[in-house]
Amino acid sequence: MSQVKVPEGRWSWVKIDRGALRRNLRAYKSLLAPRQKLCCVVKADAYGHGAIECARVLHSAGADMFAVATVREGVELREAGIQAPILILSEPPITAIPQLIEKNIMPTVYTIEFALAYGECAVRAGTVGKYHLAIETGMNRIGVHYADVLEFCRNINFHRGIQCDGVFTHFATAEDVAGWDYKLQCKRFEEAVRALEDAGFDCGTVHCDNTPATMLDPSTHYDMVRVGIGLYGLYPCDSSRSVIKLDPVMSVRARVTRTAHPAMGEGVSYGYTYRVPRTAVQICTLPIGYADGLSRTLSNRMEVLYRGERVRQVGNICMDQCMVAIQQTPIHQIPEAEYGDVMTIIGRDGDAEISADEMARLRGTINYEVVCDFGMRLDKVYL
Ligand SMILES: *Cc1c(COP(=O)(O)O)cnc(C)c1O
Repeated sequence: MSQVKVPEGRWSWVKIDRGALRRNLRAYKSLLAPRQKLCCVVKADAYGHGAIECARVLHSAGADMFAVATVREGVELREAGIQAPILILSEPPITAIPQLIEKNIMPTVYTIEFALAYGECAVRAGTVGKYHLAIETGMNRIGVHYADVLEFCRNINFHRGIQCDGVFTHFATAEDVAGWDYKLQCKRFEEAVRALEDAGFDCGTVHCDNTPATMLDPSTHYDMVRVGIGLYGLYPCDSSRSVIKLDPVMSVRARVTRTAHPAMGEGVSYGYTYRVPRTAVQICTLPIGYADGLSRTLSNRMEVLYRGERVRQVGNICMDQCMVAIQQTPIHQIPEAEYGDVMTIIGRDGDAEISADEMARLRGTINYEVVCDFGMRLDKVYL
């Protein structure tokens, strides 16, 4: 553990396991037919894992397309030299159109105003603007209502400056593919796509599956699937665990920056929500706090790993630091820590593991948010 290469400026870091990322991508490819494409979702800095580095790894491992949430995220990938198609998963403001054309980034489209402005700009630039049409099938978030797609396409299809590269929807309830709600969304999508095809409209790449739908329902893979969380080695729901084996890509560690033995009754951290008990404890300071993604709601409730064992975090988690207590009991003796010792916040240490899922449960959220948050400020070490 002490051989880990640590960033110079601060003793806390996120480790990104490129090999795990590659293996996870291959596991998803194994679920697809050869002609079916894999769109890797790298929005929000690849769920906190670092979009540029992850996109490079994923592209060399066989990613067919990248999906992002914002224009800036797309531009960053292009400026880093990523050549694969890039799709923005919602319709950006019209003011972003020149940048989309310049950088060859595909928007999602669902308003006539945007589609026509996009076409005008493309014609002026002497090119054709590719886009993906979003169909609203029940998430009630974005897209053209499933019953209105044919009319929508008739209204924009005359324009020679735009070309439909794909048609997609996004499920609201993909964790429950046996449920009525999921089946209804599938049916609406299928009927909308069929209506377009029957009218002679070229839909391009048809896609609807996120990670859970990709894993749980092969019948909706269509031409491409959009996988996010699973690439990072996390399961979107318990029912998906038996489908393929995934390896977590992110781990989070920190080194002890100070040790002390405050007297019994002394308080620790802001507000003294923890006081040193009758038995002696060693208080160890770690340089990681809520501005690094370690939510303050975990204060006095979480554990970290030290020498393969669980030790308690104590006192309120600060913005940039937190404290843990190493406490001896008559039945459990654990060596005290030294300045520079490594502790694991997310990841494995020996036989012990703290997963993003465990932390998500404690926080009352999902693993997606846990990993996104650790991407905020910590240095990333790519392995
Ligand atoms: C974020 C997102 C995805 C990826 O979802 P995962 O559950 O992480 O696989 C796919 N499609 C759309 C439209 C999204 O917004």
